[in-house]
Amino acid sequence: MSYDRVEVPDDGEKITASDAEGQELDVPENPIIPVIHGDGIGKDVGPAAQQILSAAAEATGRNISWMRVYAGETAREKYDENLPDETVEAIREHRVALKGPLTTPVGAGFRSLNVALRQTLDLYANVRPTYYLDGVPSPMKSPEEMDMVTFRENTEDVYAGIEWEAGTDEVEQVRDFVEQDMGFDSTIHEGPVGIGIKPITEKGSKRLVREAIDYALEHDRDKVTLVHKGNIMKFTEGQFSEWGMEVADEEYPDEEVFAAPDSLWETQEDIDIPEGAVMVEERLADAMLQWMQLRTDEFDVMAMPNLNGDYLSDAAGAQIGGLGIAPGANFGDARCLAEPVHGSAPKRAGQDQANPSAITLSGALMFDYIGWEDAAQLVKDAVEETISSGKVTYDLERNLEDAEKLSTSEYADEVVSNIEKLS
Ligand code: NAD
Repeated sequence: MSYDRVEVPDDGEKITASDAEGQELDVPENPIIPVIHGDGIGKDVGPAAQQILSAAAEATGRNISWMRVYAGETAREKYDENLPDETVEAIREHRVALKGPLTTPVGAGFRSLNVALRQTLDLYANVRPTYYLDGVPSPMKSPEEMDMVTFRENTEDVYAGIEWEAGTDEVEQVRDFVEQDMGFDSTIHEGPVGIGIKPITEKGSKRLVREAIDYALEHDRDKVTLVHKGNIMKFTEGQFSEWGMEVADEEYPDEEVFAAPDSLWETQEDIDIPEGAVMVEERLADAMLQWMQLRTDEFDVMAMPNLNGDYLSDAAGAQIGGLGIAPGANFGDARCLAEPVHGSAPKRAGQDQANPSAITLSGALMFDYIGWEDAAQLVKDAVEETISSGKVTYDLERNLEDAEKLSTSEYADEVVSNIEKLS
């Protein structure tokens, strides 16, 4: 790919795949990392995150050569395109990247660029660790009980983008097919209808659940909960859970990974999970949203189809103090696109007010992924140190007594100075 329209840094090296299957990464000490600042508050938090992550890399003896690429509003301004090929190819070729939020219009307009990027690059697992940072105001009595990681399937389900608009010939063809050929005669009401398709495949389900189990094994977590609505959507969400349980049953030694009996209807607190083993259980998605609040400390790693994951991870983010601090990353085979859970928050855009913690902590996930665990820990410690010292952005300040309200850029400077102190 030629990057004629993008400035390629001349002082960095590419991260490459070190084995034939392309699963393992070779990471130089001075990698080129593509970055999309994104729309709305992305203009504020993107540069702030770059500044903090660069400082953590330097403090641990490395250097990041950022390669700025464009999507959304900035790409429309520069190239009159939403998602230029260069951007997709830069991420494909450089293997890891950092991304700010991108606006998606509701109803008419273009399809979600976030979904397009995840699908095109086959970044099939959206991973969101949700843990409490000391000093963050939370609506919960014991927010510190939350320490879970959600694995959200990223490429299928009702987000696959297979849908037809009301009033089109296509939607009427689908209606006829469903009613006449498939025999669902009076299931769809008369009059205009929009129809979408919910594909859940064996491949998509199993690779996601496998990622979640491997993560649990590697990070000493003892439980993986499959969250689905298979009692109603038997052949999609129910099948997701069956395939997930098959992975647990068939792909790992029993002493390493085992499926909990009857876990859909029974709580599992009496089951003794041996040291180093992982139990795989299942929960219905609606019930899960209440268990997450009432029995927060019982949950650990969760794996679920796309839509459940979208809802559940935002709700989990609220329990530990809101979207301003909730990080995430999308993973495929030997690829990682780190991005915060939050969106572009247009009301605050360009005002140097938004909280850059979420995108910065997403960058820490990216560091972990490339084996820079020391830099990742430094970023997390410096963010926590800054917040617990009462120096915070507006979103946290309004829920805290005696806190000092900082702008995005002042906050970034403060985190950098804590990186310097802690390293
Ligand atoms: P949002 O996350 O942008 O905002 C929700 C609320 O959280 C707002 O009150 C906002 O002020 C606050 N908030 C979010 N991030 C914050 C931060 N870093 N600091 C301080 N406060 C913060 O969600 P929305 O309003 O539903 O969506 C706005 C746009 O973002 C939509 O176009 C949506 O499609 C898009 N979006 C993109 C992504 C993504 O790029 N991955 C994710 C979610 C939403």
